[in-house]
Amino acid sequence: MPVCKQCGDEVDELVAVEVAGKKKKVCESCAEEAAQAEAVAEQSEAVVQQMMGFRGRR
Ligand SMILES: [Zn+2]
Repeated sequence: MPVCKQCGDEVDELVAVEVAGKKKKVCESCAEEAAQAEAVAEQSEAVVQQMMGFRGRR
């Protein structure tokens, strides 16, 4: 049985996810969590860019 690298659970199937540019093989529930965390990180990054008035863009 494959083991999830995130929570250490044994699962039937591992899902490959990309977290902060790194590929990880995790179980389905961890993949979902990772996807949500990634979406939140993208949103907060967009907010920071808006606050800076996009001046940081090159
Ligand atoms: Zn897991």
